[in-house]
Amino acid sequence: MNFLHRLLVVSTALLLSLPTMAEDDRFTVVLDPGHGGKDPGALGKTSREKNIVLSVAKKVGKRLQDNHSKDIRLIYTRDKDVFIELEQRAKIANNAHADIFISIHADCVDNKKVHGAGTFTMGMNKEKSNLEVAKRENSVMLLEDNYQQKYAGFDPSSVESYIIFELMQNVNMENSIKLAKYIQNNLVAQKRTDRGVRQAPYWVLHRTSMPAVLIELGFISNLEEEKYMNSEKGQNELAESIYQAICSYKKEHDKLRASVKNLGSQPQVSQAGSEEVSENGQPVSGIRYSVQILTARSEIKANDRQFKGQRDVICYKEKDLFKYCCGSYLTEKEAIARKNELKKSFPDAFVIALKDGVRIPLTQARAESQP
Ligand SMILES: [Zn+2]
Repeated sequence: MNFLHRLLVVSTALLLSLPTMAEDDRFTVVLDPGHGGKDPGALGKTSREKNIVLSVAKKVGKRLQDNHSKDIRLIYTRDKDVFIELEQRAKIANNAHADIFISIHADCVDNKKVHGAGTFTMGMNKEKSNLEVAKRENSVMLLEDNYQQKYAGFDPSSVESYIIFELMQNVNMENSIKLAKYIQNNLVAQKRTDRGVRQAPYWVLHRTSMPAVLIELGFISNLEEEKYMNSEKGQNELAESIYQAICSYKKEHDKLRASVKNLGSQPQVSQAGSEEVSENGQPVSGIRYSVQILTARSEIKANDRQFKGQRDVICYKEKDLFKYCCGSYLTEKEAIARKNELKKSFPDAFVIALKDGVRIPLTQARAESQP
């Protein structure tokens, strides 16, 4: 089928454009309150999904800004009552090279007794109920102009269209599930009925190229849950669950950053005597600044042409990606000077900080290297 082909082309392009060089130094969180503007989302007796999820997202954002503005960059796909296309939501996250993407929703079914919170990751699950949930959330596409062109012929009301998603399980699945579990455990700890961590083919998750989850906070069709989700107490508990999950995930993410290893068989280039390497050529411990020049999905040999003759290349691994840097400096100033020099060959080069071989935010490095 034609649309399958087009969808594959689109997704392949997306994979190839995975995080490259220019990156913000901080861990980037994208909060995506579902629906908005002309799309109210699910309708309760007294409230609309779009307002609940925006309010909860803002409470999560406030916690992040109050406690983590130094090491977490926060981006909203919307922070007011506006309509944002699904494609645009994914684009915002991809352009920001976000570390995680969290879409927030509330569910709705005919049976008013159904209640509870669930967290979804992208993936194919033939369980009918998951498909139904996904179809409801994806059907917002129908509100967009020319949705058939825009979404490559994807028909949100056809089960067949979802089969294609099975082919698109991506490398971020494992981390998405990890994040989803943190969120779900926290929601359950807040006495939400547990509807589990599940996989469902959400368009917005599929189009993001980072770990991504979609939360259904509760059922707006259930009177009690509608009331809870509209209450200050309820919204604070829901927001706290998501906020704490982000913190847990980030902590683990930071820990997993693999150590730097030295690639160069050549002696390190000396930069005004400031560069320190131990006898075996490994960077010495403590805080060092370096200049990142390349990111790759697989390892690059030290003598590869891509390094354009740079000999003091080091590598560290982050999120399944190999990141290559030049130099190891005691001061940020020296690294900046080197970056300016490298810009001629590597226009996107940027300064990073490493502590004992593990990448840390520049802000942290500055704070810790002060005498
Ligand atoms: Zn929704």
